[in-house]
Amino acid sequence: MSANTATLRTALLAAITAARPQRGPIEDDRSFADLGLDSLDRLVLVHAVEQATGIAIPDHILANTHNIDDLLGGFGAVIPCADADLGTASVAVETELGVVDDGAVVGAGSRLWHAAQVAAGACIGADCTLGKGVYVGTGSQIGNRVKIGNYACVFGANIADDAMINPHAALLEDPAPRATTPDGRRKQHTDFDQRPVTVSRRATVGAGAMIAPGITVGHDALVAIGAVVVRDVLPHALVAGNPARQCGWVCICGHTLTDALRCPRCSGEYVLQSGELHLLGDTAAACDG
Ligand SMILES: [Zn+2]
Repeated sequence: MSANTATLRTALLAAITAARPQRGPIEDDRSFADLGLDSLDRLVLVHAVEQATGIAIPDHILANTHNIDDLLGGFGAVIPCADADLGTASVAVETELGVVDDGAVVGAGSRLWHAAQVAAGACIGADCTLGKGVYVGTGSQIGNRVKIGNYACVFGANIADDAMINPHAALLEDPAPRATTPDGRRKQHTDFDQRPVTVSRRATVGAGAMIAPGITVGHDALVAIGAVVVRDVLPHALVAGNPARQCGWVCICGHTLTDALRCPRCSGEYVLQSGELHLLGDTAAACDG
């Protein structure tokens, strides 16, 4: 093992230990799966090693590694000189992760992919995932286990636990958007009218959908791809189109119900009462599975 590889190994094991402090001694042949590390964890590890050593790891090496040995072997392939001064090398890190502005809160276990940004005053719960290029604006309140897909924009919305916002969707906040005030001043944050969108528990907003300011999307609802939502969405409703209209009902598991209000996937059965859908019996457990 070269001096550089030894340095990388030390940095890698330190990064794994930092990520999984509850684990015992770590051997080189342990797979990332055995260590409980998924693909994003690998990204975090490599980012930490790059910061510690100054050596940039190409993505194709990261993508083809399954254990510590693989990764160290990959490192060896990108070290140009065994005697290089690792401590002073200047590199462009290829795996820059998200940005959390001062004054923002991000809960434990939440993850931000490349270039995701959480603005000051936004609050994100635990175990959320924010994809590449996601923006979460000031005033946003996001629950636990929420997934927000690549390049989605959330402007001051309230998003409940287990909801999902798919790529390129936008949750808008200002019902009278203007760049300037009537007297020609550039608008500041306090000049905007704030009518936040609410996305309720387990609801899904489809890719590219637009949700107008002040709209409430009910729990377990499904907004279709590219929909433009300008009216509130009932719990369990499936809405699509521009302007979005309700065209069906959706199970807790996300599948569209039959005309008999049954789920073809998990056999959940529902009933309509006063225009709202309710789950019958105790099939929720089956749906959640
Ligand atoms: Zn179902």
